[in-house]
Amino acid sequence: MFEQVKLAYAVDALEPHIDKETVETHHGKHHATYTTNLNNFAEKAGVADMDIEELLASLDTIEDPALRTAIRNNGGGFYNHNLYFSTISPNGGGEPEGKLLAKINETFGSFAQLKEKLTALAIGQFGSGWAWLETDADGTLSVSNSLNQDNPISLGTGKKPIVAIDVWEHAYYLKYKNLRAEYIKELFELIDWKLVAEKYEAITTA
Ligand code: MN
Repeated sequence: MFEQVKLAYAVDALEPHIDKETVETHHGKHHATYTTNLNNFAEKAGVADMDIEELLASLDTIEDPALRTAIRNNGGGFYNHNLYFSTISPNGGGEPEGKLLAKINETFGSFAQLKEKLTALAIGQFGSGWAWLETDADGTLSVSNSLNQDNPISLGTGKKPIVAIDVWEHAYYLKYKNLRAEYIKELFELIDWKLVAEKYEAITTA
């Protein structure tokens, strides 16, 4: 059974950056539906007991092509939103510290340059998708974007995402309409770098 993360904050706690109605719809409807669908399809495919990361990294082993696609999309939707909602918070914004900041500086030059690169990837993702800050097991950072509910794991890159920027219109359209860039700018006020650093530590010290 795959379980949707519960929000660690009230639905209106991300205001004014992300409005209450968007959080209610995004978490309560979109994310909930991906989770329900994943559980149903995973049951059918006999993979309901798998770890979600292992499942997304081994989609090739699901023989039925329709089930494989359904699990890729809904499993991605489940996983991506779990990461998204658990790495933003009302205490977010600012800059990372410590080991993660040192690695960001080494890799991208500065936090400002990382932010610029991530923003460009998020704005540049045509149609629905995501932009990612990702790491491999030895802590090497990179950025990427992907279509629909794909992510660095399901794409077989061997990397895991630690920051998730959802650029599906459902993530911003109620408040920002067509202004994706405005939403991304505001989302950076919510990205909680302490929580991101915890993900980074967990992956790189495993
Ligand atoms: Mn979404």
